[in-house]
Amino acid sequence: MSRDMSQQMGDSHRRLLQCMMTNGIMDEQRAQTLYKHCCETQNTQYNADQLESFIDTINSKLQPMFMQIRKGVSEDNGQQYYALVNMADTDITRMSSDYADNELELFRKTIDLIVGSEDGKASSTDILNSADTLTSKKLKKSETEHLLNRLVHDQWLNEKCGEYTLSTRCIIEMEPYIRTMHQEQVKVCQICHNIALQSQICENPVCGIKIHTPCVARYFKGRSEPRCPACDDFWPHEIPEIRRPRSQSRK
Ligand SMILES: [Zn+2]
Ligand SMILES: [Zn+2]
Repeated sequence: MSRDMSQQMGDSHRRLLQCMMTNGIMDEQRAQTLYKHCCETQNTQYNADQLESFIDTINSKLQPMFMQIRKGVSEDNGQQYYALVNMADTDITRMSSDYADNELELFRKTIDLIVGSEDGKASSTDILNSADTLTSKKLKKSETEHLLNRLVHDQWLNEKCGEYTLSTRCIIEMEPYIRTMHQEQVKVCQICHNIALQSQICENPVCGIKIHTPCVARYFKGRSEPRCPACDDFWPHEIPEIRRPRSQSRK
């Protein structure tokens, strides 16, 4: 197959794009299965190791529409995900068709809280408190709670026991915003080099590197004494078990 052929957008590419548009985000394994299925149903050649270039071909057509299928890692299970993201704006204003100004202000404050926290989480109490500091129209407690539910429903936030984290999709899509707005605060994972929010931190004050929880599990597996990969200090945190990803639930 010639190089030109491989870069043409065909029906198999369109099918995969349609699924991405419906789902918004999918894990790598699902993308691989879908890629195979799309090739088979459209009678085009399938190469297991060509998913990246298949997606590059789709991305070259998406570029004029300021869309992109971008890869990122889940902070929950360490799996790779593909998300269809909007590149048209440099910050949260792209959400302005769905959310009011004061709602976006609170979402920004929530991102600030999460990125500024040590463990990548913000409690509902903290978020409710920061709703009192809005410069745009204030949000009542019930309105804030409703907004948080919507942000979870729309897959911007995840919630567990009253604590909010940024969803995988949100991190993939908002990465440029987070890196620009939180330049001093944001750290990347020492192991996978993606933004590290839900992570463990080296307690050596001159080191302070971060490692995602699932990356901790994989990195320290089978090592008798966990030591920081950067400064070699003892790693004082609990080493979690490697978690199997839950099958195809939304992230
Ligand atoms: Zn990592
Ligand atoms: Zn260290």
